[in-house]
Amino acid sequence: MEEARGLLDQCRIERAPVDLVRIARHLGIRRIRELDVRLDGQLVELGDGSYEVILSRHAPHTRQRFTLAHEIAHLLVASPDNGSMSCGDAPTEELCNQIAAELLIPTRFISDAAATDLDVSVFRGLATRFQCSLEATGWRILNMGQGTGALLIWRHRDDGSLELSASPHTFGFDAPFENGDVLDGAMPFVRKLMQRNEGLVTYDAPRNGTTYQGDYVRLNKVLLMYLKPEGNQTLKTRRRATSAPGQGELFG
Ligand SMILES: [Zn+2]
Repeated sequence: MEEARGLLDQCRIERAPVDLVRIARHLGIRRIRELDVRLDGQLVELGDGSYEVILSRHAPHTRQRFTLAHEIAHLLVASPDNGSMSCGDAPTEELCNQIAAELLIPTRFISDAAATDLDVSVFRGLATRFQCSLEATGWRILNMGQGTGALLIWRHRDDGSLELSASPHTFGFDAPFENGDVLDGAMPFVRKLMQRNEGLVTYDAPRNGTTYQGDYVRLNKVLLMYLKPEGNQTLKTRRRATSAPGQGELFG
């Protein structure tokens, strides 16, 4: 991620949210337009050595920021050797996503913030600060090696059940659920979650006899949960702020 860090230095980015427009200008992106397009975004060469980025006007602000950072990354990794600056092969896309993550939530800004006990409310605060989606922020922080818990993304299905769409084993933490697990409405655990938009959760896993604690927030059709084994860390029980970012801003 040296490319991204160098760019942040050159553009004197010293605070969040990261000024992506300044970075774009620095790399010769002259125009950023929001158009009625189906693609998330596109980098267009204008012929005079400058570029424009087209973003979908239908995407939420946080998604637009991620897309802009991704297109900036394409420009950063492009060379006469690999030619194309449009979206291409999987390794290039993965590299651009990693660079975009570093541009949006730079490691240097997060080391202090993430040293505290993590929970969903901490992720929410960081998501607001960095203008990223809650889901992307959670993954980013955990990918940095912070945290000792598992981030679980449950998606509502039409029948009212919840299906886990994120692997809880990514960070070496053995959460009591598997990717694809479905929580049907008969479980008291789920019924409790359904009653509120956010709250604390305790779960006794029959599988290994461990008690897990965490908190969750429900946004649109997604329930985002952070779980830790009981006693692993002190869970915050303070009241959470009632003013939260708009739901539409957090998820696309
Ligand atoms: Zn791409």
